[in-house]
Amino acid sequence: MLKQAYEALTAKVGRRSFLKMAAVATAAGATSAFANEGVTRAATEEEIKNPFPGSTSVKTICTACSVGCGIIAEVQNGVWVRQEVAQDHPVSLGGHCCKGADMIDMVRSEVRLKYPMVKEGGKWKRLSWDDALDRIATKMENQRKTAGPDSAMFLGSAKFNTEQAYYFRKFAAMYGTNNIDHQARI
Ligand code: SF4
Repeated sequence: MLKQAYEALTAKVGRRSFLKMAAVATAAGATSAFANEGVTRAATEEEIKNPFPGSTSVKTICTACSVGCGIIAEVQNGVWVRQEVAQDHPVSLGGHCCKGADMIDMVRSEVRLKYPMVKEGGKWKRLSWDDALDRIATKMENQRKTAGPDSAMFLGSAKFNTEQAYYFRKFAAMYGTNNIDHQARI
C-alpha cells in the first residue's frame, strides 16, 4: 500500500521533488507526506472490528525450521492476510522466535524468490527447474573433477526434517566428502 502510494506520488511529481516535499512536510511537523495527498484515511469502526470480512482461521505451523511452532493463519479469499500465535500449540505454547513471528511477511514479500534464476550478462533470467538442476549438477561434477571432493562443503538447513537431514548426509558421502555441517553452527 505504501509502495503503491509512493509510486503514484512520485509518478506525478518526480522522485527528486517528492523527496524534497517529504523533507519539508517532515520539517513542518506533518504526520506524513502521504497524508497530505489524501492517500491514507482512518479506519472505520466496522473495519477496526472486522478488518478482513469473510476470513477464516487456519491452524498451521511455521516453516522456518523443524521445531514446528504453531501459527494461526487468517485467510481471506485464498490469501494469507494476518498471523496470530497458536496459544494451544503443544510445542510453542503461543511463543515464536523472531523468524516465526513474521512468517507471513516472508510468504507475501514482494522480493520472494519463486523460481530458479540466473544472472547472465548482468541481467537476471528465469530458468526451468530442470535447467537449474542440470547447471548445478554440471558445476558440482566439474568442481569434484578439478579440485577434489573435499573442495566442497555441504551446509544443512534448519528447515530439514530428520529424513531430509539423513538424505543430505548421504548425498555429501556420495560426493566423497565429510565436509558437512548444520547452518545453525555458524
Ligand atoms: S523458526 Fe522459530 S517460530 Fe519457526 S518453527 Fe523454528 S523456532 Fe518455531
